[in-house]
Amino acid sequence: MMNVLNVAAAHAAKYLESLPERPIAPQVPLAELQRRLAKPLPEQGVADEAVIDELVRDCDGGLMGSAGGRFFGWVIGGTLPAALAADWLTSTWDQNAASNVTAPAEAVVEQVCGEWIKQLLGLPDSASFALVTGCQMAHTTALASARHKLLRDRGWDVEARGVSGAPPIRILTTENRHESILRAARVLGIGTDAVKYVRADNLGRIDVGALETALKESGGGPTVVLLQAGDLNTGMFDPFGPACEAAHAAKAWVHVDGAIGLWVGASARYRSLLDGVERADSWATDGHKWLNLPFDSGLVFVRDAAAHKASFAQDTSYSVPVEAVRNQKDWNPEWSRRGRGFPLYTALRSLGRAGIADMVERCSAHATRLVSEIGALPGAEIASMPVINQGLVRFSSKTGEHDTFTDRVIRRIQDAGVAFFGGSTWRGMRVMRISVCNWRTTGDDVTATIASVAEALAAERG
Ligand SMILES: *Cc1c(COP(=O)(O)O)cnc(C)c1O
Repeated sequence: MMNVLNVAAAHAAKYLESLPERPIAPQVPLAELQRRLAKPLPEQGVADEAVIDELVRDCDGGLMGSAGGRFFGWVIGGTLPAALAADWLTSTWDQNAASNVTAPAEAVVEQVCGEWIKQLLGLPDSASFALVTGCQMAHTTALASARHKLLRDRGWDVEARGVSGAPPIRILTTENRHESILRAARVLGIGTDAVKYVRADNLGRIDVGALETALKESGGGPTVVLLQAGDLNTGMFDPFGPACEAAHAAKAWVHVDGAIGLWVGASARYRSLLDGVERADSWATDGHKWLNLPFDSGLVFVRDAAAHKASFAQDTSYSVPVEAVRNQKDWNPEWSRRGRGFPLYTALRSLGRAGIADMVERCSAHATRLVSEIGALPGAEIASMPVINQGLVRFSSKTGEHDTFTDRVIRRIQDAGVAFFGGSTWRGMRVMRISVCNWRTTGDDVTATIASVAEALAAERG
């Protein structure tokens, strides 16, 4: 029974040790992975150790090297050693974190994490919270709470009556919103047609004058204003104070997408980017990105705890209420789920406030160096300097062609295996997105990456 755990731990150690040398992009095509993994369902079980050994062998070359220090694609983050260890224990303990009866220690750990993070990020002490799968579900949870409050204020009990026939809710935001907001609008019956775009200034921040005009046009109808704390392309922050003031004057609910940027609240250097953010009504962020937790770690905070609870609490015939400790599923969209508080608790303790601040500042410094040094290469230009840890560059061939050339250079960098970046379309042009959010990234990783990009760009330019 125990040997299989030792086998897995040995594979894990070997993988982590190999990260610095391993090519970052997957080396094996999907068809080959299918050939290896799509075995017939066995009639008789296979021995545990053999199943694990074969899983490792069959996945080899088919893993994205996002756990390593030279992965700069999307916004993914790695895993802190202590958080990884706690994640192993989470599965070992196999707690059902639905309630404080099924998982008492986890209930307390979650409560502690919620309080710590409110302190760390400067959110109101009285805000409620939930530990969800990711920022997507954090948005869904926050917007469900907003929907409850906005419709209840208009005499509509959405939990009982549903959305059919209810006053329509509008969401005002800028084009810089993440698509996960659209999915939250879809599943909540708000609908994507309800998302209206307000003008942004040349830095991508919501134009508060345009927001005020749009709020007036809503004629007092139920409205959510969605603001960004660190958008995924440029890392931009909306002007929270003035935007919250305008929104609240019109009785709108303000939700903040802080998937990436809310963590700068830990850093004295960057904290002012969040000025006024505490005036919002709900906040969503991710633990599995910049905090470097394993996946399955979203966080949502809601100012109006009663609205949050009314959206999710559900009586059951078999629940045993324990009043003194928060009951997780009263706040979560999920019922049975893993104890995702353990890795979070462990990460917060292993880093401390100073460790989180250091990670934020270090990643941001690496991003600035990557963007400025790559942007200075012949044939490259800077499209957007990082505000925090996200920036954009683009490339041109000798004939001056940008868009397809940028994609070709990205592909060549990925194929070289030293580093990994992804492409994006930003303001109508193709760009290479540079995102630094792994605790492992070092100055040497940045140096090696710039050399690899220089080589790929020179080769592609011919
Ligand atoms: C990643 C991201 C999301 C979605 O978060 P998930 O954890 O993938 O659900 C939302 N907003 C922004 C700005 C993001 O970067």
